[in-house]
Amino acid sequence: MLLKIDLHVHTDRSPDGCSSIGEIAEAAKRKGLDGVAITDHDLILGESDALKLSCELGTLVIPGVELSTPEGHLIVLNPKREFGGLPLRAVAESARQDGSILIIPHPMDPLSHGIGFSEASSLILYSPLIEALNASTLNRYNSRAKDFALRNSLPMVAGSDAHLADAVGDAFTVVDSPSCDMASVLSSISIGKTAPSGGRTSAATAAKTVCTRLIRRIRG
Ligand SMILES: [Zn+2]
Ligand SMILES: [Zn+2]
Repeated sequence: MLLKIDLHVHTDRSPDGCSSIGEIAEAAKRKGLDGVAITDHDLILGESDALKLSCELGTLVIPGVELSTPEGHLIVLNPKREFGGLPLRAVAESARQDGSILIIPHPMDPLSHGIGFSEASSLILYSPLIEALNASTLNRYNSRAKDFALRNSLPMVAGSDAHLADAVGDAFTVVDSPSCDMASVLSSISIGKTAPSGGRTSAATAAKTVCTRLIRRIRG
């Protein structure tokens, strides 16, 4: 079956996130998604919490984290340990030993802490997936990410990088999975049965995200 999953979503547990997990799950269902991966900044959502949330919210919640390594951002799906402060390649090494999945988000976007061409090249041996479409990244950086994936025969994914529920699902990954349970979906992602889909977040939604973030900061 083909499942639509947004593999890059931030909740209000991220310092710059604006929506609760409940609001995100509602938005995902409204937009016809089959699930979301929660990838808060440096804050792991583990497998057991993700399973609990999936049941409570009625949509698949995939465990994950977006790490801020010294070299730039790296997403780990189904993380099994804390990575606090480790450099990029040490994270990749540990995560792959654990059987976790690596996604290089917005790799060619220097404005969003993308790791860039040479660091991305150094991770090829860890079989990462490449986020070839990030709804918050400029088209030219997405194009470069897609070129990089194609040149190196790496599987491609997409995610909204939503920090507000309105943006969830603007970009998403079509996952070809034998069933919709978490283990099957993770296994299908890990072997690259993925295709990026969707587009970029509208200027109106991006502006609403900035305003909502400001209001949240003012209110403390
Ligand atoms: Zn990022
Ligand atoms: Zn992000």
